[in-house]
Amino acid sequence: MSDKPFRVLPKLTDQNRHFWQGGQQGELRFLRCRPCRTWIHPPSPVCPDCLGKDLGVEAASGRATVLTFTLNHQPWVPSPDHPYAIAIVELEEQVGLRLMTNVVHCPAEDVRIGMSVRVVFEEHEDVWFPLFEPAEHA
Ligand SMILES: [Zn+2]
Repeated sequence: MSDKPFRVLPKLTDQNRHFWQGGQQGELRFLRCRPCRTWIHPPSPVCPDCLGKDLGVEAASGRATVLTFTLNHQPWVPSPDHPYAIAIVELEEQVGLRLMTNVVHCPAEDVRIGMSVRVVFEEHEDVWFPLFEPAEHA
């Protein structure tokens, strides 16, 4: 038995591999437009801001804020801990740079809008899911 919750693994492509495997090096990576410095997520071949195609991969700080969340009480899949918090977090690098994720390492009831969180990674095979824990968590 694994203590990790079941997760549907994403299909890795050349466009998203940096994102799903950055956690192997402890990095939360996104595409970033070289000329205008816009962070891009989900991955796109074109910068949504300047429509440029000169994109590179950069690591973000991993620091974020909970924008909104919901507590899932429904045990859709076998999992050791219910309820759990499904959240949308916004990275500090840029307004609008958001991820759908889980807030972990604290009771789901303690999750609050506006709370500061930081990335942690949960490894499943060749994918490192970016999850977030309270930033003050030791
Ligand atoms: Zn751009």
